[in-house]
Amino acid sequence: MSELVDTFNRTHRDLRVSLTDRCSLRCTYCMPKDFDKWLPSHELLTTDELITVIDVATEHGINQVRLTGGEPLLRPDIVDIVNRINSLSNPPELSLTTNALRLADLAAPLFEAGLVRVNVSLDTLSRERFKRLTFRDRIGDVFKGLKAAREAGLAPIKINSVLMPGVNDDEAPALLQWAINERFTLRFIEQMPLDAGGIWDRKTMVSAEQILNSLSPHFTLTPVPARGSAPAEEFYIDGGNQKVGIIASVTQPFCGACDRLRLTSDGQLRSCLFSRDETDLRKVLRSSKLSNTQIRDEISTRFQKTVLGKRAGHGIDDPSFVQPIRPMSAIGG
Ligand code: SAM
Ligand code: SF4
Repeated sequence: MSELVDTFNRTHRDLRVSLTDRCSLRCTYCMPKDFDKWLPSHELLTTDELITVIDVATEHGINQVRLTGGEPLLRPDIVDIVNRINSLSNPPELSLTTNALRLADLAAPLFEAGLVRVNVSLDTLSRERFKRLTFRDRIGDVFKGLKAAREAGLAPIKINSVLMPGVNDDEAPALLQWAINERFTLRFIEQMPLDAGGIWDRKTMVSAEQILNSLSPHFTLTPVPARGSAPAEEFYIDGGNQKVGIIASVTQPFCGACDRLRLTSDGQLRSCLFSRDETDLRKVLRSSKLSNTQIRDEISTRFQKTVLGKRAGHGIDDPSFVQPIRPMSAIGG
């Protein structure tokens, strides 16, 4: 089948799959504290439906799938989902982004089901700050989850950190030193306007340049060449093999090399985090008028149409930029 090439000649290889919009934390940059517009469970794709979509996507050249959310480990059948993706005739490289609260119990079964690597989100090492940032007193569970991930054999373990002014922007060197000691790969992510609550402000967000400036008195950072379609600009630390990444989605967007598509937990395909449009795959999957073959054909058509409609960039810096209506937790990061 044809590859998913858009009008800017970008070939799409990476599908981000949100398994649920729900979450056990309330990170301020991701979800309004009192958010309660959860999707009814019958609107979420079933596991069979998810597997059909991923299978069709792999026929179009998608070879990387990242499971995300919301919090993907809240999906009760997460181990089965990993197993089934790995059993597809053309299994994609599979990864998972999690807040790690349930990883202590799930790391070993997930590894046995074929998960190799994991990304864990952690923005602070302080219990008090974690509480303020997430509205939950659960940093201890994150550390337990990380320990279990390492013991299970998941590797590499990457840590995603978002820095916010006046909240944790002084913690970049401490987070990096901790990651070095633990042999985790740390990536700082610039905060994007995806909270759906309007707290984001371009003028006060912590930029990649500021992050580098706060790290450079403490570490010697040497740029790693050959970034490809990877969003993180990487640096070797102190002349060794360990790396730190900075994902400058706002100040140095990598849209020109973007190879990603996103599937929301209710079965909507998006060509960008910031798309205003979604393509409804759930409607096709649930159509009683179509045979299984017709369903697969229509999904295939909708993948191609979505890719052809992809814009050149997210346009965050454009004065006409409008924040997506759904928060990050509902789109799938
Ligand atoms: N709950 C899981 C977690 O936190 O890892 C997976 C979903 S979360 C939406 C995926 C990633 O998106 C996390 O690393 C989180 O830090 C990041 N994220 C969420 N909102 C963001 C924002 N407004 N700007 C930048 N990154 C954001
Ligand atoms: Fe939940 Fe992840 Fe969003 Fe935090 S970043 S609220 S853990 S989905």
